[in-house]
Amino acid sequence: MAKVLCVLYPDPQAGYPPHYARDGIPTISGYANGQTAPAPNNLGFTPGELVGSVSGELGLRTYLEGLGHELVVTSDKDGPDSEFEKHLPDAEVVISQPFWPAYLTRERIAKAKKLRLALTAGIGSDHVDLDAAARAKVTVAEVTGSNSISVAEHVVMMVLSLVRNYLPSHEYAVKGGWNIADCVSRSYDVEGMHFGTVAAGRIGIAVLRRLHPFGLHLHYTDPHRLSEKVESELGLTYHPDAVSLVKAVDIVNLQMPLYPSTEHFFDDKMFAHMKRGTYLVNTARGKLVDRDAVVRALESGQLAGYAGDVWYPQPAPADHPWRTMPFNGMTPHISGTSLSAQARYAAGTLEILQSFYEGKPIREEYLIVDAGALAGTGAKSYKLT
Ligand code: NDP
Repeated sequence: MAKVLCVLYPDPQAGYPPHYARDGIPTISGYANGQTAPAPNNLGFTPGELVGSVSGELGLRTYLEGLGHELVVTSDKDGPDSEFEKHLPDAEVVISQPFWPAYLTRERIAKAKKLRLALTAGIGSDHVDLDAAARAKVTVAEVTGSNSISVAEHVVMMVLSLVRNYLPSHEYAVKGGWNIADCVSRSYDVEGMHFGTVAAGRIGIAVLRRLHPFGLHLHYTDPHRLSEKVESELGLTYHPDAVSLVKAVDIVNLQMPLYPSTEHFFDDKMFAHMKRGTYLVNTARGKLVDRDAVVRALESGQLAGYAGDVWYPQPAPADHPWRTMPFNGMTPHISGTSLSAQARYAAGTLEILQSFYEGKPIREEYLIVDAGALAGTGAKSYKLT
């Protein structure tokens, strides 16, 4: 009998929902790149239910207990006295989510002598020290593709809401005001603006495709150039690096993974290369940007707005400056965990566990680290330094 330790965000404050706003969600069977959506046997939940929080348990209990394994689900993840640290030394599998990450540091991996699989229920495994996991021969896998469109939709929403000054205008309406001039004195159309994404992987390209009909000029940078067909279909301008891109655009989107050399990639120096009044959207990872440099750039007007859903650490402390800095459109880390996204990443988590426990290979696209090295998607997207 093995122990599977699963860390999920807490249930809603009002308790686990007795019913939902809608009676179901559309079935998505595959993604734009041809990859099929997860297809495990005997899904333990009804798609559309809140499975991402503690009581939802990702719908895994029936499957794991059926095999005689113990499933421990907790949201208590930080500090030496946490439930997570208590169970870690016995855990064979750790399941965590980027939204409420159980940080698997080098020290914690050293304590987890039985650990064989670190499974990210979602996308982005930077909360795991990948180098330490590789050295300890722990497999790291994530549910690649499961919430890419969920995030791309969130980016489009944030681009429009920042540029059109939606959130402050909504506040005036809620408070009984009709201050049109106050609302519109920071409100523009996106049509004709230049938009650039730093990284055009699964999410980055989906954002470009969704913004194309808005009549923006689209730019990107990525270590690998997209095909000529895609570039001409979307009218893309390619930039060899981020500096060249930020000089040319009005709106910047960050969509690259976090690894040691991308930490604080956007700092005072990078902001100085931008046009005054640039908008920055970051749904990739909080640590890609220098926290205080963002605040300075908003206060000076170098940035006209900053929106995103990723912070460091998570959950962000109550006094995190991004909660109160001017012209921000921050949300908690929610873009990749809509009820629609959860249905796919919970199904993918079960599919990976079924492969692991039934001796079948984990899909190549789900692998980040395997057999002591970066593997699959991990070998393409991450660096260990
Ligand atoms: P992909 O692996 O499909 O794409 C990542 C892209 O980043 C690849 O095209 C890669 O290039 C590129 N890249 C890597 N390093 C750099 C660099 N230094 N500069 C520019 N580009 C770089 O990942 P996804 O699009 O699915 O996800 C991207 C990130 O978004 C995730 O790593 C995660 O951090 C975040 N995310 C956030 C979510 C949320 O809920 N907010 C949910 C899902 C993901 P190439 O492969 O061509 O070498």
